[in-house]
Order: sequence, then structure tokens, then C-alpha cells
Amino acid sequence: MAAETVFGKIVSGEIPTRILAETDRVLAFPDISPQAPVHIIVIPKTTEYADVTELAAGSPETLAEMVAVAKRLAEEHANGEFRMIFNNGASAGQTVFHVHAHVLAGEFEESRLV
Ligand code: ADP
Repeated sequence: MAAETVFGKIVSGEIPTRILAETDRVLAFPDISPQAPVHIIVIPKTTEYADVTELAAGSPETLAEMVAVAKRLAEEHANGEFRMIFNNGASAGQTVFHVHAHVLAGEFEESRLV
């Protein structure tokens, strides 16, 4: 169960954002601190799920809808290809415990690891 988070407040309208896509179950808006030319946050409207493992178990159709929205946004704002990242747990970098996907697209720097 997700506690009250910044993304819950975006769903309720308490915190303003620019909605880039909306379906019955899903909302997408720009990340406030973008890490790529296109950096969009995609969330379920429900506050029920803290992370992607909970969402996959409880509502796989919502997860599928998030992927479809990500694909549509990548087609609108880039060339249709994208990264979709879920930070899962605090030690994996998750800071907002309302499940969300980072959708990243556009040009990327080459990896410094290889
Ligand atoms: P991290 O902060 O390490 O990326 P998360 O995976 O939990 O951890 O991602 C939270 C994301 O939410 C961050 O990329 C942050 O920039 C973004 N964010 C926080 N507040 C807002 C907001 N009001 N509108 C859009 N994005 C936000």
C-alpha cells in the first residue's frame, strides 16, 4: 500500500503538472528533473501500489496500459524507441513510493561502463 506521496497529490490535483497522456487508469507527465531529452513519469491513478512488483501482482493490466502509454509518448516525442525504468525499493534508488515508470527517450550519451 502506497502512503500519501507527491504522485498521489498529482492524481488528486493538489500538485499541478502538465498532463502529457491520460487513460482511465494511467497518467503521464514530465519529470521535474529530466535526465534525458524526453523524461516522462508514467503512473497508475490508483495509490494502491507502492512499486512495480506490487502492481504486477495486483493489476497486470494496469502495468500493460503503462507500457502502451509509454510507447505512444515515445512515438509522439521521439522516434518511438524508449527506456522504461522502475526503481524498485529505496536501496535501488526509489524515492517516491507510488509505483512509477521513468520513460526516457531521445539521444543518450554512450555508456561509460564499457
Ligand atoms: P529518484 O528520485 O532516484 O529518481 P524515483 O524512481 O522514486 O527516485 O523517482 C522519482 C522521480 O520523480 C524523480 O525523477 C523526480 O525528479 C520526480 N519528481 C518528483 N516530484 C515531481 C513532480 N512534482 N513532478 C514531476 N516529477 C517529479
